[in-house]
Amino acid sequence: MTGIGSDGDDRAHERPRGTIHVRDMTDGRGSQSHAVTTGTTTADASAVPAAAGAVRRARPQGIGSGRTRFLGAAGALLLLLAACAGDGEEVEEVTDTEVEATEDAPDEEDAATEPDDDGDADDEQAAEEPEPEPEPAVDPAEVGADELGVVPVLMYHQLREDGGSVYDMTAEEYRQELRWLFDNDYRPITVTQLVRREIDVPAGTKPVVLTYDDSTASQAQLTADGELDPETSLGILVEIAAEYEDVEPRASVYVITSSLFGGTGDGEEILRVLHEHGMEIGNHTHNHPNLRNLGNAEVQDELAMNVAMVADLVPDAEVATLSLPLGVFPEDRSLAASGSSEAGSYEHEGILLVGANPAPSPFDAEFDPLAIPRIRSNVDPDAELESTWWLEVIEAGGSNRPYVSDGNPETISFPADSGDRLDPEFEDRANPY
Ligand SMILES: [Zn+2]
Repeated sequence: MTGIGSDGDDRAHERPRGTIHVRDMTDGRGSQSHAVTTGTTTADASAVPAAAGAVRRARPQGIGSGRTRFLGAAGALLLLLAACAGDGEEVEEVTDTEVEATEDAPDEEDAATEPDDDGDADDEQAAEEPEPEPEPAVDPAEVGADELGVVPVLMYHQLREDGGSVYDMTAEEYRQELRWLFDNDYRPITVTQLVRREIDVPAGTKPVVLTYDDSTASQAQLTADGELDPETSLGILVEIAAEYEDVEPRASVYVITSSLFGGTGDGEEILRVLHEHGMEIGNHTHNHPNLRNLGNAEVQDELAMNVAMVADLVPDAEVATLSLPLGVFPEDRSLAASGSSEAGSYEHEGILLVGANPAPSPFDAEFDPLAIPRIRSNVDPDAELESTWWLEVIEAGGSNRPYVSDGNPETISFPADSGDRLDPEFEDRANPY
């Protein structure tokens, strides 16, 4: 049995250190939100619906409560660029102009059916069964629903006793972060749920996406009786979720199929157990190469081999999303989304980047399912642009306020003044208040 943090397969040399995708911080959404306080005081209180404020006041104090910090957007960007440059590695900027809306032009066709007026009985019957209007389960204002708010997609690597690199955590730090999330009404969904816009968390709670890269030994092992080892990342998630009435241990687990969970031979069984817990198995390639260094045929082979092997090991599991190794796209970006090789074919509905900001709501016109930003997990509140720092920003409200569910996956509820973010494709489900 391999212990946490001693899997002997240190991937530090190939981790995405310094390859951070930077959202343009000078845009309208990023620029106001970095003046941050915790608790109930926000620097941008006017943008927070009163009801959401009431909900927030009822919650436990946030991480690092009592501290006040002001940080200009330009400063954050400089810090990030400096951090990237310091590692001497590639920095890829993703500006809002690159985050192109992928949807087609909105369908202007009127959904109302043409009445015909011959007045026969069939028509009367039809009139008694109108197309049901989507109705939210609760008063959205009462729960502070805002389904155009941001969704944190957190990125985890290894648990290590010594804390490891900036990509890792101790088990205690990880437990602390999960409990904080659940205590503060975050409820896990998978990446596939996010990109399919199937966000089914209870009214008044906030979706969070927990992602795990590299299928390392510290993420999942089995006990002698075939259960998830409660000392591993995913075992800890199952254990802590069980302490809460309405928390499902959902996770998206991006596996390297040539190196499953320390290569102990239990890989197939571990994948099956994760799938049984409702966790998503995602593509992280077969060998974890930098896809930009490969030819088109090799890129497709790396991605197709992963999908074929997972399908072979866990036939019920569907690999629908990809986490790019090192956050790097192949030269031909379209091959990240779909392709084929001798191993088979693949089609990804969602693609995860490495950094460094929350994802827009999937109903926001800016949401691009094929370039979803993630936040590196880190409990240090001073670690700029990492999880504790970002969760404080999100909880403080303002332009990075969180997605808060109205409890009905069919309707999209939001304060009327944030309606300009809505992707026109979803206008018929909109419920502004
Ligand atoms: Zn990786």
